[in-house]
This record gives sequence, structure tokens and C-alpha cells, in this order.
Amino acid sequence: MVSIYEALYKEEDRQELININNLNPVTYNEKYKGNLYCTITNCTAKLSFVSRNGISNHFRTWRESPHIETCLYYFEKTKSREGRRTEGRVTGYASDERIKKSLREAFVLEMMSEEQRRKRLERDRERRRKREREKIRGTKDITPEHRIASNPEEIDETTVTDSFRLFKKSADMLKETDLDHTRTVTGKLKKVEINNPENVVIQVEKNNVDVDIKFEEVFFAVNNHYKGLFRFLDRFFRENINLIFSATGEVRYSKITERYEIMVYTSVGFLVHGKTLESIAAEYTIRDNENS
Ligand SMILES: [Zn+2]
Repeated sequence: MVSIYEALYKEEDRQELININNLNPVTYNEKYKGNLYCTITNCTAKLSFVSRNGISNHFRTWRESPHIETCLYYFEKTKSREGRRTEGRVTGYASDERIKKSLREAFVLEMMSEEQRRKRLERDRERRRKREREKIRGTKDITPEHRIASNPEEIDETTVTDSFRLFKKSADMLKETDLDHTRTVTGKLKKVEINNPENVVIQVEKNNVDVDIKFEEVFFAVNNHYKGLFRFLDRFFRENINLIFSATGEVRYSKITERYEIMVYTSVGFLVHGKTLESIAAEYTIRDNENS
């Protein structure tokens, strides 16, 4: 799907071209909401403004108002398995237990041979198909799109949990359709950048594709005791080779680095070669005490 960064604002008898960079949630809500349209000639698709902390803002097409087939932004609606259109979107979140399980599985998968991995994925797919067939038989509801949010600002007591699938992806498999969604992403640990105690960027790589795993203020606000811990990760990285790093967080895209980024918000949201950062830190602390 092609991202949309321009929209037409239509008032009664005039229209104005709006660039995504000239919008913010406040002006959008006050003025433009409900009056933004596709810019392509003859296309009347309605657009809404999606703001992701100013990093990957874009316009989203209203589900009920598709682009005409000749439009650059036209896309086939995703059909659910039994051929019905998916409508609406449900946002949920994954529990700590699910995130931990997903990260452990990602590590195990990464350590497997190509053949073992292929068999495992095929088995999982078959199980899922079976489950879904059973589910469909019992329900006639419309299937909404499922999105897992990670940002604590988006999660409250009404957010549903644990009914959605948490997708695992290797760093080179991220696509535009993963944007804004929570994914478990895995790659080889390539770089540890501690910019300041509240800003850490971990670079991972798979098949020459780099992804930045980001730990920012929101992460450290909730997990204050992690502020000094990442230096142990840096040390672990310098003392070991071929470390596998997995993280669960929301997918963004940086136009500056032209890389996908994973925003991590929870302390259980990452594993370093199958270990937690806390356990690595504890091992080093014990070792340092013994040596002193
Ligand atoms: Zn259009």
C-alpha cells in the first residue's frame, strides 16, 4: 500500500492542498476532520489524519470510502478467510506473558536451521488455520482488523488483551503493513548506542537490513531502574559475537535513516540472546564483586 502524505481540504466552494507536515492533531480536530479527500483527479476517497508522535504521520483512507480503481492509492480491501470484508479496527494489547513467550519463540526460531524453521512455521500455520476454521463455524460476526498497541498512553482498562496474534518478524521481513502495529522483531545485534540515560538505540541486522530498536523517555519513565542497565548490554555485546536480539514494540519508519524502528515500551519487551537484560546485569555484578 502506498502511503499518503497529501490531501485536499474541501470547503463549500473552495479547496486547499494540505501537506502532512502542515497538520497537527489540534488543527486537524478543529478544522480539517471529515473534510479531507484524495488528491487524485476524479477520486473522492475520504482521508483521515493519523499522527504517530510526528514521526510517521500519514493520511489513512476511510474504510467506507475506497479510492477509484484508477487511483494511485487504490488498494484491494483485505478479505477475511471466508471472503467477507474486514470492517473497523480493534486495538488491543499483549500481556507480559504473551510478549515473553513471543520473544522466547523468536529466539528459538532464529537459532534453528533453515529446514527446522520451515517445518516449525508450517506446523504453526496449520494449527492456526484449524483454529480459525473452528472459530468461523461458530460465529457470524464481522471480523475487525486487529492491532496491538504498545504505547502505554494508548492503553487503558478498556483495552482488550490476548485475543490477537502477536506477529514475529525477522528484521529483513518488516513491511509497510507492519507500521503502527506491535511486532516481535529479531536480528543480529550490531550496535549499542547509549545516547543518554533515557535514550538508547540498539541496531539489529538480518540479511543486510538494519532495524533500530529504540528505548526512549516513555520506556524509562515506566522502567526507571533500567536507566543504568544498558551499559551491561554494551559490555555483553563487546565480549560476545553473533548475539541474537529480539524486541517487541510498535513499528515506525524513519525517513531520516530510511530504516524501520521498533519502539519498546515495556521492560519485558526484549531479549538478548535469550536472556533478559536484568539477568545479564546480575551476572556481571556478581562477577565484578568476586573480582574486587
Ligand atoms: Zn484516491
